[in-house]
Amino acid sequence: MQTIVTDSPEEAAGYLNAGGIVAFPTETVYGLGAGICHPEAVKKIFRAKGRPADNPLIVHIPKPEDIDTVAREIGEAARKLIRHFFPGPLTLVLKKSGMVPPEVTAGLDTVGIRCPSSIIAKSFLGFCHCPVAAPSANISGRPSSTSWKAVLYDLEGKIDCILKGDPSDIGLESTIVDCTGAQPLLLRTGAVTIEELQSVVPEIGTAVISSNDDEPPKSPGLKYPHYAPVARIRLCATGGPVAPEADTSSAWIGLTQPHASAAFAIVRQCGTTGEYARILFDFFRQCDALGIDTIYCELPPDEGIGRAIRDRLTRAAAGR
Ligand code: AMP
Ligand code: MG
Repeated sequence: MQTIVTDSPEEAAGYLNAGGIVAFPTETVYGLGAGICHPEAVKKIFRAKGRPADNPLIVHIPKPEDIDTVAREIGEAARKLIRHFFPGPLTLVLKKSGMVPPEVTAGLDTVGIRCPSSIIAKSFLGFCHCPVAAPSANISGRPSSTSWKAVLYDLEGKIDCILKGDPSDIGLESTIVDCTGAQPLLLRTGAVTIEELQSVVPEIGTAVISSNDDEPPKSPGLKYPHYAPVARIRLCATGGPVAPEADTSSAWIGLTQPHASAAFAIVRQCGTTGEYARILFDFFRQCDALGIDTIYCELPPDEGIGRAIRDRLTRAAAGR
């Protein structure tokens, strides 16, 4: 299959409306979308990514008010979160409406829904004839794509079209909150922090991610390895190891300079946690392109978006 690269949201939406799969930029990461009214196209997403069939997709809507077409039984807490955080980097899990086919939700009765704030994403979604189911546009298990070039590298020849935009502003996937139970639960950290969520809905809790196979995890995707580059990830406290196993095939990323900076092939010191989040996955991909063996990653403070960075680093370190 030939993968068309375009900067026209209307042209890209044309491929999706014809039953194709299309990668598009959002403020979090690039998504790989299919119309939810094209279940066969939704299946193609799983094939292109090598995504496990039991890992549901997030449905993207162009306007907050479209939520009622894809969800039902939306409670007061969810309504408040929608009012405060839509459009933006927050996904809500709600009971699905009849419009959402089982291919999107991996058979679940619930659906993750997001309304992106990125202007190009909104424009693209506006040209699509139905809501768009989309996971991150990367090969399953690998770092999410935060640029159109990363999408092309992973998925060229496997998808119909890439809508070319700027690199993603945030660089990490959306925060996910499950609003289907008595108490809303944070399932995945992201740019919308628990403190921000609780300032609107104080009772939001933090889900315990079950490692017990008898209990289905709250968010099926969380049990799979994620975000891993080919290089090994070593997590470090401030400044890293005094004597890294280092040679010219190690890299460093963090908020400070490493102790033995000369020992690294690449040193990337980020000015802020926001910058760290924005470039992390791209840095992993650069390191792989250069054949780096080990990436030393400094853990940022456990607050704000630092929490989401720590989550992704920990999962990346757990390997594929
Ligand atoms: P990705 O867009 O690649 O980050 O993948 C979507 C994430 O949303 C995965 O971690 C899914 O498990 C999660 N997700 C999607 N739908 C649901 C749902 N109905 N319930 C819980 N988690 C969901
Ligand atoms: Mg993903």
